[in-house]
Amino acid sequence: MKNKFLVIVLSLTIVAVHSMPKRCTESEDCYDEQLHPDLPSNGDSPVLDNEEDLNSYWLEKSKSFVQDQLARELNSKKAKNAIFFLGDGMGLTTLAAARVYMGGVEKQLSFEKFPYTGLSKTYCVDRMVPDSATTSTSYLCGVKTNTGTIGVNAQMKRSDCEDTKNSTKYVYSIGKWAMDAGKAAGFVTTTTVNHASPSGLYAHTAERSWESEMMVEMSCGKNSGVESIAEQLIHGDVGSRLKVMMGGGKMNFKRDGKTNLIDDYKGMSEKNGFVETRSELMSLDLNSVDRLLGVFSDVHMDYNLDKIDKNLDQPSLEEMTRRAIELMQKEKNGYFLFIEGGRIDTAHHNNEAKLSLDETEQFSKAIQAAREITSEDDTLIIVSADHSHTFSYSGYMDRNQKITDEAGIAADGLPYMALNYVTGPGFKSHYDSNKRQRIDPTSTNGKEIHANWPTAVPQTGAAHGGEDVAVYASGPWAHLFTGVFEQNTIPHMLAYALCIGDGLKSCDK
Ligand SMILES: [Zn+2]
Repeated sequence: MKNKFLVIVLSLTIVAVHSMPKRCTESEDCYDEQLHPDLPSNGDSPVLDNEEDLNSYWLEKSKSFVQDQLARELNSKKAKNAIFFLGDGMGLTTLAAARVYMGGVEKQLSFEKFPYTGLSKTYCVDRMVPDSATTSTSYLCGVKTNTGTIGVNAQMKRSDCEDTKNSTKYVYSIGKWAMDAGKAAGFVTTTTVNHASPSGLYAHTAERSWESEMMVEMSCGKNSGVESIAEQLIHGDVGSRLKVMMGGGKMNFKRDGKTNLIDDYKGMSEKNGFVETRSELMSLDLNSVDRLLGVFSDVHMDYNLDKIDKNLDQPSLEEMTRRAIELMQKEKNGYFLFIEGGRIDTAHHNNEAKLSLDETEQFSKAIQAAREITSEDDTLIIVSADHSHTFSYSGYMDRNQKITDEAGIAADGLPYMALNYVTGPGFKSHYDSNKRQRIDPTSTNGKEIHANWPTAVPQTGAAHGGEDVAVYASGPWAHLFTGVFEQNTIPHMLAYALCIGDGLKSCDK
């Protein structure tokens, strides 16, 4: 009887809440339509005719979250393996917009289910907003340094052909720490294998653009004694010991016009596997190789949407991730793997929002696969970004709109998009300099894969953003990755969990 009464009261309350007009009183924390004249009106009806109309839906969801939090047990086991996923340029705005791209604001990226999150401060020694070279040194070698330099400390002068040979200024990555402790190390990227992010694992250079011998010669001349990043990957102390190296960048391996570093690699051992297509990678017998170099394109690997569009024989990030982990799982002492979704950033630099969000979805799939084929008992997985971008997601779109849609009408009478950038090449195609006014963005946006999005400030490439980036963690010692910390703390926390390196170690307690 009492229950029945409660149900009636509850139902009446729900009906009452629903039939109230959506206007807000002064005391309520909601939009004032006077201040938001562009707020699209949904009338007085609920946005979606579904379970979200019910109080019980939100209560149940909250309850289950609290229960999950309470059931959580600290995992303080020693990590045998660690996988570090890096979304280059993947700021929080990118993640929130990617959810909508994947089907709605309520969607979750795979790693958003990880139990622990923190924030990483990305500034470097000489700049407030960093590039991918200095951050790679930070999150892989544990030392902050100057823009454009990799695997060296801040005493190194950028682009200095003599200083770059001074090994007293070198710093070493968690890849080396892992191998020195008897574990295997390797990496996967969608950029060139010698690009800034993965290079932090194995290279020491005063200049990130010295990926190939040709680039070195342009800066330092012939016979300078400066080793390109590609040379260091094949012949360097760390590079020559890596078990897995996958990505693009075949062009970087050409040397003195005749020889090729890939031939050097193949010549070192019959067990040095090499693949250059998706078909070769997927059919390779992993027991037939000790090491694996996969180089699938001349420069960066193609965007996922272009791969589909052009039917290219290149593996997805998820496929490369699965193969890399399968190979690493042969290692008795465990491994450290670095896996980069590198083209989230390159798309943002061109203000190509759709590509960037699609690459973020691909990145999420790779992490899902990694978590599925490894155990939380012995494998720590972390996910982060090196820096953000000046990417914005705004306006009062209806819940059923697409993220690539317009958000409303702006003060100049023209539509504006939900996605915009502060800086980049997108300015040019969205501003009529004769009429000194914006071009209607709906005339171009969202229709093509490579469409670029409206941008406030003209620049040939979009500038990075300076705010903190998120870190997500799952597995042994994942709870260390909470709070707000300096980016260079990341490898020290990984090393603590893995019990490797010269710093603090979980097994020394
Ligand atoms: Zn970048």
